[in-house]
Amino acid sequence: MKAHDGMYIGGEWRPAATTDVIEVVNPADEQVIDAVPAGTARDVDAAVRAARAAFPGWKATAPAERAARIAALAGSLAARRDEIAATVTAELGSPLPFAEMVSADLPAGVTASYAELLKGYEFSERVGNSVVHHEPVGVVGAITPWNYPLHQITAKVVPALAAGCTVVLKPAEDTPLVAQLFAEAVHEAGFPAGVFNLVTGLGAVAGQALVEHDGVDLVSFTGSTAVGKGIAATAAASVKRVALELGGKSANVILPGADLERAVKAGVANVMANSGQTCSAWTRMLVDADRYDEAVELAVKAVAKYVPGDPAQPGTRLGPLVNGKQRDRVRGYIERGVAEGARLVAGGPEAPDGLTTGYYVRPTVFADVTPDMTIAQEEIFGPVVSIIRYADEAEALEIANGTVYGLAGAVWCDDEEKAVAFARRMETGQVDINGGRFNPSAPFGGWKQSGVGRELGAHGLAEFLQTKSLQF
Ligand code: NAD
Repeated sequence: MKAHDGMYIGGEWRPAATTDVIEVVNPADEQVIDAVPAGTARDVDAAVRAARAAFPGWKATAPAERAARIAALAGSLAARRDEIAATVTAELGSPLPFAEMVSADLPAGVTASYAELLKGYEFSERVGNSVVHHEPVGVVGAITPWNYPLHQITAKVVPALAAGCTVVLKPAEDTPLVAQLFAEAVHEAGFPAGVFNLVTGLGAVAGQALVEHDGVDLVSFTGSTAVGKGIAATAAASVKRVALELGGKSANVILPGADLERAVKAGVANVMANSGQTCSAWTRMLVDADRYDEAVELAVKAVAKYVPGDPAQPGTRLGPLVNGKQRDRVRGYIERGVAEGARLVAGGPEAPDGLTTGYYVRPTVFADVTPDMTIAQEEIFGPVVSIIRYADEAEALEIANGTVYGLAGAVWCDDEEKAVAFARRMETGQVDINGGRFNPSAPFGGWKQSGVGRELGAHGLAEFLQTKSLQF
């Protein structure tokens, strides 16, 4: 695609308030592929005004009408599958088949799921002598990151629209092109003008202006915990509601009796997906002392299959990181792991062989990681697995729960009841039991510093509603 040089506001592409641009770089070869306008507070203000003006009308539509528009949006996204996947590969660096699956098919599927959900959704209920109405919150400011750029847009924008809210989206500066494709799909689906608006720009400028704006009723943010804390503090000044999907440091707990080969292979694959840039990645692999050495050997064998390379080439399983800053950050963590005494058994901080251009990082495995090490506590956001030894189940639980995060996790055991009992004691929002599949209708979100609120399915829709009780 060729980028739009304006903002999508009030149902049309309008000139931006400045001529400043943000360059979009292909992380595989460091070449500038396009540029989008760097929005200012004036662009944000225009978008919020359009969203406010559209709110009363959209709120008043019948759920069936909203469902029809959302179903049309799912169709428009599905029709753009190839363009979306190629765009995400070019601006993010995801291998093409992975981009097709998680950046094209998944968002189209999540969008379609809300058209279905609306058909039977009860927006009011009787409680004794009251009728409780669930009404849209108002204008939503949606701020999204780059790592699953279209999924994270649809996971907020679509339930907000389904609830009857209107939206201003500020997507990540690294991946604005797929956000423009989303705006094209919204336009084609026939939503009334102003129901959805897009402002590209820097977080500290356009993002900040959106959070501060008095015309915004709720901010839904996905990104780093550090920025999320600042957003919550800013939003508090006007008592805006916030939903925060933040970082993670999830544990992959392999209990005695688990199918070790399967658990280790799946664990490594989970971290290597999207070059480790997954908030819910199982970056800490917990193995009992008896089978620890065997697990390390299996992990080294498994990671050898992830050879970094051009994400546009068929057969590539591991692309680059999104930008130079992230690459340097991840390499810094690998150096820190070595300095703190972890045993490097695969990968390392150097550039992968033959890949001096592009933001590549070697797929890396650390053994003998202790729970207090930096690489066991902080989110690395790269292809780095830390294998931690535990003596018994009590210690495994203490390690699993021993970070500030609580987003996801996994438990493996031949006795499913035992696995479930362990999962129930984990302080985290999602746990996959013996390789359970991702469910795009199950609530997704974090405990502790991994966030506030839930996305996806009915829980994701409820996030954008507020209640009103009428007594009779
Ligand atoms: P980030 O926090 O730097 O940026 C996320 C978004 O916030 C971007 O659109 C950015 O422009 C905007 N932003 C930055 N500063 C802002 C400000 N002061 N006010 C308003 N908006 C601002 O994060 P990132 O580097 O883009 O993404 C990586 C991080 O996101 C990782 O820590 C990852 O774990 C987290 N993440 C979490 C989830 C989840 O669902 N929990 C999903 C994906 C990513």
